Amino acid sequence: AKEGGRNSFQFFTQEMQNRLDARMALEQGLHRALQRDEFVLHFQPQVDLRSGRIVGMEALVRWQSPELGLVPPMQFIPVAEESNLINAIGQWVLNKACATLRGWLDAGVPVVPIAVNVAASQFSDQEMDELVRSTLERHRVAPELLELELTESLSMVDPEASIALMHRLKATGIGMSIDDFGTGYSNLSYLKRFPVDKLKIDQSFTRGLTSNPEDRSIVTAVIRMAHSLGLRAIAEGVETDGQLRLLAAEGCDEIQGYYFSRPVPEQAMLAMLERGMGM
Ligand code: C2E
Ligand code: CA
Ligand code: CA
Ligand code: CA
Repeated sequence: AKEGGRNSFQFFTQEMQNRLDARMALEQGLHRALQRDEFVLHFQPQVDLRSGRIVGMEALVRWQSPELGLVPPMQFIPVAEESNLINAIGQWVLNKACATLRGWLDAGVPVVPIAVNVAASQFSDQEMDELVRSTLERHRVAPELLELELTESLSMVDPEASIALMHRLKATGIGMSIDDFGTGYSNLSYLKRFPVDKLKIDQSFTRGLTSNPEDRSIVTAVIRMAHSLGLRAIAEGVETDGQLRLLAAEGCDEIQGYYFSRPVPEQAMLAMLERGMGM
């Protein structure tokens, strides 16, 4: 038993070392990616369920690595969050979203607001509202064209400071939504004080919508609650006709998901906007 323990200890340290090496390599890769401008944004349309029109789009970051190819965010955002790179990446995303809007506006494209994801640690920067304001000004983009997707977890460390920052952000004229709603520690007494416009129903609930009565009850309840708080409800991860029908029946305002479109590169999003594409 002793020898086994010793072997598994060595195995464990080797494995830990490998993981540390991989993480360090990834961290260095992300540093270089920022310097070499290797990040790209893809866009996924958000569709109004009543009119069938595109009313928004979410910007989703990818890393176009010369060595690794197109790396999805789940493979680098967590490391970026742990290594303080997330703020620089978040700033890049915000700037790129506004630059893209400016380019489309200049080309006469009928644009819709872009929703940008905000990591919790970006929100501990109390100057976030100044960053948003100066970025919008730099690109001469109206605040109504920008929405921030916040998660419930961002208010955990210092709720009062977070709520104050949210109000300052609101005062800039931008929109705000709560992302992945229902998966965090939803403290409803905070929700009431969040100056947000929209609740995004997490895709884990959408997935079970047609097969799982509990998921359906949760989705129905979230839509009702959103409406009674004067907020819009958007369901993400909508893939099937059945999910779409149920959401429409429950009065959900917007949908986002593969059913309508996967996240696509800038040119493909532009084509959808120019066609005025709807359902
Ligand atoms: P999220 O904010 O919940 O974004 C939605 C994710 O669901 C996206 O994955 C999207 O491609 C995927 N999705 C959309 N529709 C469907 C569908 O119908 N079915 C399924 N199965 N999936 C769908 P993606 O692009 O891989 O992004 C994953 C996560 O990475 C995001 O989850 C977000 O938390 C994070 N992320 C992406 N971009 C950024 C960013 O710029 N900043 C930060 N902080 N996080 C980001
Ligand atoms: Ca999101
Ligand atoms: Ca989400
Ligand atoms: Ca998510």
